[in-house]
Amino acid sequence: RLAAERESRFRPAASADGRRVEIGANIGSAADAETAADSGADGVGLFRTEFLFMQADRLPDEDEQYRAYREAAERMGGRPVVIRTMDIGGDKALPYLRLPEEANPFLGYRAIRIGLDREEWLRVQLRAIARASAHGTVKALFPMISGLGEWRRAKRLLEEEHARLRDEGHPVAERIEAGIMVEVPSAALLADRFAREVDFFSIGTNDLVQYTLAVDRMNEKVAPLYDYFHPAVLQLVRRVIDASHACGKWTGMCGGMAGDPLAAPLLLGFGLDEWSMEAGAIPKVKAALSRLDSGRCRELADRAVALDTPEEVRAELERFVRVGG
Ligand code: PEP
Ligand code: MG
Repeated sequence: RLAAERESRFRPAASADGRRVEIGANIGSAADAETAADSGADGVGLFRTEFLFMQADRLPDEDEQYRAYREAAERMGGRPVVIRTMDIGGDKALPYLRLPEEANPFLGYRAIRIGLDREEWLRVQLRAIARASAHGTVKALFPMISGLGEWRRAKRLLEEEHARLRDEGHPVAERIEAGIMVEVPSAALLADRFAREVDFFSIGTNDLVQYTLAVDRMNEKVAPLYDYFHPAVLQLVRRVIDASHACGKWTGMCGGMAGDPLAAPLLLGFGLDEWSMEAGAIPKVKAALSRLDSGRCRELADRAVALDTPEEVRAELERFVRVGG
């Protein structure tokens, strides 16, 4: 039985009619990559590097970061590892950086905004990521992108550091794919423009829901309003996937929605390419996918985006799972 369980765990994720999708794991440290590999993930869809920064009492230097990213890449043995540059600010404080007190931290100085403001820190991180690319399949992901200017600046810094390392004689991958988190509605709305330039999108529903619905993801008082089945969120998700495909790019999702088996038929119907989640959620989502027919899911997705409320979407999904179509 153990052998059978093991075998099913490592079977590639696919729908009943054979549509393959990639299942990634979300990790917060290089050691987590071991769990990710053991859980049958096809790769790491999100390496949240900020934990590396939060555990230290000062900014980790280039070598320290390089060792962590390299270890993750090696543990995944050639499977892709998407490394997100530091997503500090918002709910994630760093005592040694003494970030300013803000009235609205989630709307303030966070993530790529800090990276582009303190460019030397971002350059150090990008060098570490580029050096790790010599030891596996490493991709760079920029968080909280709200406009094309931020993306272009971040991408240029990556290119500059990549080229510099090569000039210095460091072994680096020939090419390092770069993408953006889609977690701010403006990025989703301009997905068609971004799609021409990025290698991939990763939809962060945790923040995308917060910003689309104006519902603080940390505030219990408004928690009932926080719902990724809201039709407005679904429209944005679909838009991003369609825009990426129109340019021959791929879209992943690394927010909590990807790990919800009830969302699986909807996301399969939208054509989502890669799903990244906590390692523990992988077996359930794989099992849910294996029962689905991709054609029926496409019809379901069309019906769902046309509904008016999250409750209606949820009811439709529950009905779909119950009767299988
Ligand atoms: C997200 O916003 O969905 C996401 C994956 O990023 P984080 O939860 O780290 O903000
Ligand atoms: Mg986020």
